[in-house]
Amino acid sequence: TKREDIRNIAIIAHVDHGKTTLVDQLLKQSGVFRANQEVAERVMDSNDIERERGITILSKNTAVYYKDTKINIIDTPGHADFGGEVERVLKMVNGVVLVVDAFEGAMPQTKFVLKKALELDLPVIVCINKIDRPEARPDEVIDEILELFMDLDASDEQLDCPFVYASAKAGHAILDLTDNPENMIPLFETIIDYIPAPEGDPDADTQVLISTIDYNEYVGRIGVGKVDNGTIAVNQEVMLVNAHEPDKQKRVKISKLYEFDGLNKVEVKEATIGSIVAISGIADIHIGDTLCSPENPVAIPFQKISEPTIAMQFIVNDSPFAGQEGKYVTSRHLRDRLFRELNTDVSLRVEESENTDSFKVSGRGELHLSVLIENMRREGYEFAVSKAEVLYKEDENGKLLEPIETAYIDVPDEFTGTVIDKLSQRKGELQNMGVSNGGYTRLEFSIPARGLIGYRGEFMTDTKGNGILNTAFDGYAPYKGDIQYRKQGSLIAFETGESVTYGLYSAQERGTLFIGAGEKVYAGMVIGQNGKAEDIELNVCKTKHLTNTRSSGADDALKLTTPRTLSLEEALDFIDTDELLEVTPETLRIRKKILD
Ligand code: GDP
Repeated sequence: TKREDIRNIAIIAHVDHGKTTLVDQLLKQSGVFRANQEVAERVMDSNDIERERGITILSKNTAVYYKDTKINIIDTPGHADFGGEVERVLKMVNGVVLVVDAFEGAMPQTKFVLKKALELDLPVIVCINKIDRPEARPDEVIDEILELFMDLDASDEQLDCPFVYASAKAGHAILDLTDNPENMIPLFETIIDYIPAPEGDPDADTQVLISTIDYNEYVGRIGVGKVDNGTIAVNQEVMLVNAHEPDKQKRVKISKLYEFDGLNKVEVKEATIGSIVAISGIADIHIGDTLCSPENPVAIPFQKISEPTIAMQFIVNDSPFAGQEGKYVTSRHLRDRLFRELNTDVSLRVEESENTDSFKVSGRGELHLSVLIENMRREGYEFAVSKAEVLYKEDENGKLLEPIETAYIDVPDEFTGTVIDKLSQRKGELQNMGVSNGGYTRLEFSIPARGLIGYRGEFMTDTKGNGILNTAFDGYAPYKGDIQYRKQGSLIAFETGESVTYGLYSAQERGTLFIGAGEKVYAGMVIGQNGKAEDIELNVCKTKHLTNTRSSGADDALKLTTPRTLSLEEALDFIDTDELLEVTPETLRIRKKILD
């Protein structure tokens, strides 16, 4: 059965492209607000840090009405560091609205979530917002978006998506640039027409997968999810099961059930397939739990919540300057605040230690923990933190395992060389390299989590603030050996299978030449500024796409040593020549190693 009276959609937008304004307008025009009543609070993104960092961290729900249809709007997190959240959220919806600024065009930050949506076969409505801007260039932006879709392997149906032009600020949308703008109805209509109604069997056994957790001081934990099958009602007895924890089975009674209405939750007696519901009163409800009929408790599979990979100590600040008015400083304060965070953040762990003034806080990555730290400091908590440490594990034979991440990077072309070089030093392996698109290149690295510690800041500096770095936990793998940071100012040679090409790795330009030859690219050996081998590393960068010779950020370096492609023998001979300052026994050892 189809619930024609419901549409479940997610909004994907780059920060500042107008998502909040758009949702506010939809709310206003859907009649949720009485005439002339201002929207008091912009709830779609209440977290200041999101704005500053250009990422969306929290997912929130809003519901608007158009005629007889209820449209549930779910905000999407913009950052992959938050684990399976993107996928869990997208699994609740039947389509997405991609909001794009008519001047800026699609920004790489939105790619990660968009890609997930396309992979899940969701139809996309593209909303070109801010068409009132004098610099707006909607036609070009549309072309760019279609190119992006093709880049992300969109299906033919997805490529055939509708475009809606909007000025969220003025409160109107049009389907054709020559149309007369009036209101948001064209967008409402497109959502109703293009996004499929949710489907399911209302007579089947109950299945509600809890996708997010809210927390409220008064009612405690609130599970939010979509009714996938059957119905759920107040006073119903359900079995709580979890696909990843087969032993966890618990019978509970539904005491309070809500649906979303505007910005609020309203209590309902019963809900059926397609409805997005909130359930309070179950103390240990968790993400990934399925509420089922006790006679037929079948858990719905879900993307596992990413485990913590990084830990920091949060230490009570007992400096003589601490404890001024309005500040929270005691270990009790810190403890309560941290444990409160656990209510809504499923990827976080907090452990007490023997020293009552210190707590071990583990999370998904440095960004995850730093967002928490900043939030707490803004709230007035004073504390110190230790350096981040990776959480190691051992396999059954006692071998050391370490967390590995996939880093998805979009980098302006001119900085590609620097980024590859830096991450290779940090034990990153280039898995994939896209072709340059709109001045950006997409790189995918497999890298030990410890290699990313402290890297984000460096990355932002190296890319002049224009790079985008998303990471996703990949699993534990055997320890990859110590990272030795390479000295700058070295000659770097690349073995490409048949030949070695070299360039100067210069301290000023931090440029690196990298050469592709078919399937294999070896970013090679490094010889120190004075001809001494500072470090030798054969970083194997296998890549599928790197078939053309390219050099980035290394142009000046190339001027210093004329680039040539040599046979392996020739190249090694070259290393022995006077051109390369001085040859040490170490150089020769390196040479031998390559030859072997
Ligand atoms: P969000 O970060 O995506 O939620 O973006 P906001 O809704 O907060 O909007 C960011 C800025 O863009 C705000 O200053 C808005 O007033 C402005 N804005 C939003 N929609 C429009 C629009 O249609 N036209 C113009 N000119 N500005 C807009």
